[in-house]
Amino acid sequence: MVRVGVPRLLTTTWAERDTIQARLHALAAASSALDLRLARVLAWLRVQDLAPLGYPGWLSFTREHVGWGEAWIRSLIRLVRSGLGQILRAASEGRISLTVAVTAPSTCAPEAQAQWLAAAEAGAQPARPRRPSGASSTVAPGEADSLAIWHARHRVRLLEGLPVTDREADNRMLAWWRTGQPEDLVARALAPAPPPRSAPGDSAPEWEFADPADVLVGRWRTPSDVEGAMALLAGVQAARRGRAIELGRLYERVVRGGLHRSWGFRDVESFCQATMGLSARSLQRHRELGRTLRRLPALAHARLSLQRVAVIGRVAVEHDVERWVAVAGRTPVAELERAVEQVEAGADPGALLEAYEQVMAATTQTVGLAAVQAPVPPRPTDRVHPDLPEAARWLLAIQLPPQRGFGRVKERDRFVCANPECRRRALRNHAHHLRFPRHLRRAGVDDTLENGACVCPSCHLRLIHAGHARVERGVVDGVGPALIWTFPGRVVTVGGA
Ligand SMILES: [Zn+2]
Repeated sequence: MVRVGVPRLLTTTWAERDTIQARLHALAAASSALDLRLARVLAWLRVQDLAPLGYPGWLSFTREHVGWGEAWIRSLIRLVRSGLGQILRAASEGRISLTVAVTAPSTCAPEAQAQWLAAAEAGAQPARPRRPSGASSTVAPGEADSLAIWHARHRVRLLEGLPVTDREADNRMLAWWRTGQPEDLVARALAPAPPPRSAPGDSAPEWEFADPADVLVGRWRTPSDVEGAMALLAGVQAARRGRAIELGRLYERVVRGGLHRSWGFRDVESFCQATMGLSARSLQRHRELGRTLRRLPALAHARLSLQRVAVIGRVAVEHDVERWVAVAGRTPVAELERAVEQVEAGADPGALLEAYEQVMAATTQTVGLAAVQAPVPPRPTDRVHPDLPEAARWLLAIQLPPQRGFGRVKERDRFVCANPECRRRALRNHAHHLRFPRHLRRAGVDDTLENGACVCPSCHLRLIHAGHARVERGVVDGVGPALIWTFPGRVVTVGGA
């Protein structure tokens, strides 16, 4: 459909514009209140054992159910546990942005809070301490250096067993190179990870003000068990989804119609910061969501979580969006992210969707594909610290211990955990025997690679050997070899395994 380019401003009446402004304000305030409510539920869940739900740890749980970064979750949990009543109230009423609120000193007497808040509302509290840009002290790496850095970042993630960002990987690489002890590095990467922290239950103080989230999702009640907390989580997520979609759409309408100018703002960012208390981070998120929904209206009607909408919005186009929606509704978020990364790296989306559709046709449950675990081709590197190319080469020259016997299963699987909801890549991952008949003595066990799967220590010990998950190799009609994962309440069939 071709639209003649009539500027939206001309087609929007003054009354409509006022309604849009009021609605944007209400939605923005509600989104902060809901984010804080979500953080309260997460603060409670953070200290529970999630293995009985079939999740090996906090990271995989939050990736499937929340979609926020770990650092942001930690900041918000700290805020809701802080008992900073005045600051929590201002944030949940949308008077200050959450990005500002999380920078409040965590222990703060009421008078100091009032003072801090007054400065924050006047815009004097910086949203986040800015990192020095360091633009003058970076270099643009050549092609060979760029490739070495890409591989070295991959190796940092393998050694750390964490999906750290490029920047974090670079910092660690430089720190290791400066201290220069490769043996320690490898020993630490192989040592068992510290057990997950456990702490007493929810100690977050009750809030002594009317929480705006109450009218949206009901009054706060401390969950009595994990199932109760999961129900609260689902309710908050459904409310957040509806509001984010509406906010994204209205925001996109403001930007495209230049409505902010008619309200006297030079640019849309200053309008949003002044009237909606939104941080640059959430502005960006809403703008992306708005654009995605304008491009692919079908996504707004799909019964998908926000994090899934955001992930498929990166690659779906008009003619294949329905197929992506179908896949997204049947794959774990971790799986979907990998599939989208493959397409971004040049994989043929049609072939990939077809492969998913084949597995989906063979089962009614959740699906995955082993093929999406293949490494994606290196991307050119941005400007980096001048020492980074040397640090990268140093790191790549370190010999990793060779895998022997059944341990070669890990090499074959590129050290990636086979659990489609986990996919943790770590040198310390284990080789798991898919069939290990109890009546056989160790010597009789099938040690061929076909009988093995690489799994992370959490999935291996806290899920499989604790009886919260089962994995077996099978052959699925129309699909061929598959790994079938059974978790409490769900089964994931991974084709091509
Ligand atoms: Zn795992």
